Amino acid sequence: MFHFDNSYAQLPDRFHAAVYPEPVDAPVLLQFNESLAKELGMDVDVSDPGRLAAVFAGNVVPAGAMPLAMAYAGHQFGNFVPQLGDGRAILLGEVVDSAGIRRDIQLKGAGPTPYSRRGDGRAALGPVLREYLVSEAMAALGIPATRALAAVATGEAVQREQLMPGAVFVRVAASHVRVGTFQFFAARGDTDGVRVLADYVIDRHYPELKAQANPYLALLQTVALRQADLIARWMGVGFIHGVMNTDNMTISGQTIDFGPCAFLDEYDPAKVFSSIDQNGRYAYGNQPGIGQWNMARLAECLLPLLDDDEEKAVEAANGVLKAFGERFQAQWLEVFRRKMGLTAEEAGDLDLLQGLLGAMAQAQADFTLAFRLLCHAADGKDTAFLALFPEPETVKAWLIRWRERLAREPAAEPRTAAMQAVNPAVIPRNHRIEEAIAAALQGDLSLFKTLLQALEKPFEELPEFASYVLPPQVEERVARTFCGT
Ligand code: AMP
Ligand code: MG
Repeated sequence: MFHFDNSYAQLPDRFHAAVYPEPVDAPVLLQFNESLAKELGMDVDVSDPGRLAAVFAGNVVPAGAMPLAMAYAGHQFGNFVPQLGDGRAILLGEVVDSAGIRRDIQLKGAGPTPYSRRGDGRAALGPVLREYLVSEAMAALGIPATRALAAVATGEAVQREQLMPGAVFVRVAASHVRVGTFQFFAARGDTDGVRVLADYVIDRHYPELKAQANPYLALLQTVALRQADLIARWMGVGFIHGVMNTDNMTISGQTIDFGPCAFLDEYDPAKVFSSIDQNGRYAYGNQPGIGQWNMARLAECLLPLLDDDEEKAVEAANGVLKAFGERFQAQWLEVFRRKMGLTAEEAGDLDLLQGLLGAMAQAQADFTLAFRLLCHAADGKDTAFLALFPEPETVKAWLIRWRERLAREPAAEPRTAAMQAVNPAVIPRNHRIEEAIAAALQGDLSLFKTLLQALEKPFEELPEFASYVLPPQVEERVARTFCGT
């Protein structure tokens, strides 16, 4: 079914634990991503959903798989936990996709592993559907993220705050190596393990770095730049990851582990949705700072590889952290420049942007809709945009400034279309996700499936999905999101 080619399993024993999925009672295929399956070169018989369900639930381990749980550590809300690891995820194996890229196939919720600690190794249906929707939405938005290959109901209940239907999520990732994977070895003083892992990720993700004078420093630099770019992209769509622990940050630069993640409705830089983030550590506006903090933790792990002279190693690492800050700032401004329809750079652009964001915060304007309606304002049609601002005087003055700035753009190209290509109309709004999950818990998957379809073309406003463009009514607003683990 998969043409496996497993490399992580070849790494030394202390990197992972071999473990088979625990079969479930009654697997039923809920969703299958056929186009991704094609990309992965899977041989599938879609006329046999029973077989797909059995494989994706872990009841049947396909030929060539070498199931394992990966070891990792991590800082959770700033506190270091020396041993986490895949407690409810099992890596089936790796496939090299049609573009020549190696990808992991992982079953999330497939039963206990040696790293399960007190957990049951299972996943509940709600979080599985949430991860499915958000990872596919991210892909459609063009933001690096792990992908959803399938969701399967297990026919078993899992105990959370209450009994919930169980499910397995089949995740596809460039790899599952995290900052926390490096921390696992570094915390044990296992410099050899750190080096083996660094060599592995250079080979797998960044082979071009082997030619550099100091490949390990180049690795740190590259990961930091990828993460700076990624977080700038998140900010541009109002995405709040919610649990940016170091074990939830990849080395590949893909977004991973969609727990209590959420998208902004009204613009508020201090916004937090996650019920477990009581101090707002992972608030929308804190994400770049946390990204840098996480990169500092990665840098600490790599120090012994950067230079034999510790002082020089620290200096090099500090240089990377500074570069992260600069790169983020530049990318963030670039993302928002494009959202404002600007292609050239001018010194006043940051101030212009801050003027808009300030007005949006003041008015509690819907983040996604404000930028989408700004696209039409570029054509002079600004009534709908202005309607988002109860006291539009400030923003009217801002529009004048903005139009003066647009007039200085090199070309008066079809601006609305260019802006619409970077300002999505459809995002996985929290109330839509919750609504789809609530229906699924009652046995009705139709809302989930329609939402998934609506998210496929986020930059288009198709009449059949018009309602997905709308922000929640005040009473529909989701105040809290939960991990559900
Ligand atoms: P997460 O919050 O999903 O990033 O998970 C943090 C850690 O807790 C990871 O080591 C997970 O494998 C583990 N974990 C989360 N949920 C469960 C569960 N139901 N059973 C076992 N381990 C879990
Ligand atoms: Mg995690």
